[in-house]
Amino acid sequence: MLEIKGLNQFYGGSHILRDVSITAEIGKCTVVLGRNGVGKSTLLKCLMGQLPIKSGTISLNQNEIQTLTPENRVREGLAYVPQGREIFSMLTVEENILIGMARFSAKKSSKVPEYLYELFPVLLEMKHRRGGDLSGGQQQQLAIARALAAEPKVLILDEPTEGIQPSIIKDIGRVIRKLADRGDMAIILVEQFYDFAEELADAYIVMARGEVVASGPGAEM
Ligand code: ATP
Ligand code: MG
Repeated sequence: MLEIKGLNQFYGGSHILRDVSITAEIGKCTVVLGRNGVGKSTLLKCLMGQLPIKSGTISLNQNEIQTLTPENRVREGLAYVPQGREIFSMLTVEENILIGMARFSAKKSSKVPEYLYELFPVLLEMKHRRGGDLSGGQQQQLAIARALAAEPKVLILDEPTEGIQPSIIKDIGRVIRKLADRGDMAIILVEQFYDFAEELADAYIVMARGEVVASGPGAEM
C-alpha cells in the first residue's frame, strides 16, 4: 500500500499542494481527478522525488520513502508514466521496453517478457520499428509497457488518455483493469476524462486548487 500524508508543496510563493493525503491499495486502481492546473502532475512529481516537498510523508508498505532519490524510489517499486509521451524515438520498440528492465529491474534480461506483448499486441507487431515512428496512441502503450518492464509495486499514470483516440483509450483501459485485477500492484491513475476514470476507479480522489476535496470508493463516483 502506498500512503501519502499531509503533503505540502510550493512553487515560488504559491502554495500548490495543500495538505494532500492519499492512499492507494494493492490490487486497486485509485483515480485522481481534477481540472487543468489543480496540481495533479505536481503531486506525482513529488511522489517520484522529482520535486522537493515542504512537508509530509510518503510510505510504501509502511516504509517511508520521501527521503529517497528518484532512482531509488523507482528501485523500491514506483513506476511512473509521465504526462505526454516520453519514449526514445531513435530506439526500437523492443529497446525502449528493455531500457525499463535494464535500469530498474532486479532481473536483467535481453528479452521482452511475453506477457507485455500479450498486453499490448500492437507492440509485438511493431517491435523492430523506431519509437519515433509510432503513432501517439502506440507511443503511450509503449510508455506503459516500459514502466511495467520494471515489475513495479505501484504503477503511476499521468493522463494516459490525453490526445488519444477512443479505440486505443479502450485498449489502455482494459490493460489497466487487468493489471489491477492481477492483485500485485497498486495503480494511481490521474485523469480528466470522467467516463474513463469512472469505469476504472476502485477508489477516487478529487482535487481542486491543490487540495483533496472529495474521495471515496469507486462505486460512489
Ligand atoms: P493538467 O491537468 O493541465 O495537467 P495539473 O493538475 O497536472 O494540470 P500541475 O501541472 O500540477 O497541474 O500544475 C499545478 C499548478 O502549478 C499550476 O498552476 C501550474 O501553473 C503550476 N506549476 C506547474 N509547474 C510549475 C513550475 N515548474 N513552476 C511554477 N509553477 C508551476
Ligand atoms: Mg498534469
